[in-house]
Amino acid sequence: MNNNSIEQLLSFDKEHVWHPYASMTSPLPVYPVASARGVRLRLMDGTELIDGTSSWWSAIHGYNHPVLNRAIQNQLNNIAHVMFGGLTHKPAIELASLLVEITPHGLEKVFFCDSGSVAVEIAIKMAIQYWYASGKPEKNRLLTVKSGYHGDTFMAMSVCDPEGLHQMFGRVIPKQLFANAPATGYNEEWNEDEIKGMEQILHDHHHEIAAIILEPVLQGAGGMRFYSPQYVKRVHELSSKYNVLFIADEIATGFGRTGSLFACEKAGISPDIMCVGKAITGGYMSLAATIATKEVAKTISSGKDGAFMHGPTFMANPLACAVAVASIKLLLSMPWKRRVAEIEARLKEGLSHYSDMPEVAGVRALGAIGVIEMKEAVDLKSVQEKIIKLGVWLRPFGKVIYTMPPYIIQDHELDIIMDAMGRLAKG
Ligand code: PMP
Repeated sequence: MNNNSIEQLLSFDKEHVWHPYASMTSPLPVYPVASARGVRLRLMDGTELIDGTSSWWSAIHGYNHPVLNRAIQNQLNNIAHVMFGGLTHKPAIELASLLVEITPHGLEKVFFCDSGSVAVEIAIKMAIQYWYASGKPEKNRLLTVKSGYHGDTFMAMSVCDPEGLHQMFGRVIPKQLFANAPATGYNEEWNEDEIKGMEQILHDHHHEIAAIILEPVLQGAGGMRFYSPQYVKRVHELSSKYNVLFIADEIATGFGRTGSLFACEKAGISPDIMCVGKAITGGYMSLAATIATKEVAKTISSGKDGAFMHGPTFMANPLACAVAVASIKLLLSMPWKRRVAEIEARLKEGLSHYSDMPEVAGVRALGAIGVIEMKEAVDLKSVQEKIIKLGVWLRPFGKVIYTMPPYIIQDHELDIIMDAMGRLAKG
């Protein structure tokens, strides 16, 4: 391609570039981004948009942040990438040390990989290998809840909502066990009856279950549902009672999004295995980690085969680790908890104005997450153009119009996003 007009770029893109969850023959329009700074995306035609998505919940410090840029630039002068088999490097060691320090107590053994879905695959492999090494290879199924989402790869798909976006693969993915989705809302009074379904499954199937996997407190891509930390706490207790591992998928919730550094803290629990990703690099690069307890790691390593059989080419990429170290230090150095609480309060107040609209089923906010849930599914095609015209960037799905803005967003920018959400809800 020698001519780079916007039209030509877009025409090539439409013809040859597959986008997420999109058709290749009749894709929705895509908008070319030229640059970004702070919470603003600049399109190639000069249009500026306030970003309400943090690029799928990852860019917590906004875009083009000088501290994060510098971390990558400095690392680039040393080494961009090197294999992790037989070699190691300071950025990975520093990042592992930070993760061990800030994640719930007991999580000590860090396995780096490239994306959230792969981190979930690794967590599941760890759980299965744990029982294999313990002489119980029959414990190899997963238990989870409906309305969950854990990624797009095969084992991750098997623990996503069976009626969700991966339905068509139902025949080829392993059949897992599903309890009903948690029903008690975040602040609602806990009803012990709610745990009975989960306990029954554990009672009947614990001998074949390797682990329970949950997105603690927030079911994200399955519908932006906030639920009671007490549910997480009770499931964690049951996992001990029935001798199955507990995997916390904190890929969406990690690094402050729900108002705690990790959502497990709200339930006062430490899982056996935790997955983190998305915001780990402040949204700069693809990186994730699966962190296990000493007990899980020791058992896997003591097995007949000893080694944990996983090792991606770009494991612990030094550029990604360096920017992750910078992003986590930046987060810890700012009053993030106060800011996220302020964002939550503003979202609650601002979105409450839309709760009585006839099209709206309900509104809610938790941490830096604000949701308008519609009665009917949103037509992405028609709302997308409208969103751009309103000068914001949002990406509704299903019945959900939501924002997960960068924590650096200012109040007046948040108000613009909420106003746009309200207008989209009006249709
Ligand atoms: N788990 C959760 C809870 C997620 O929200 C996501 C991504 N939306 C994933 C796993 C998969 O992460 P990735 O897209 O990086 O593969």
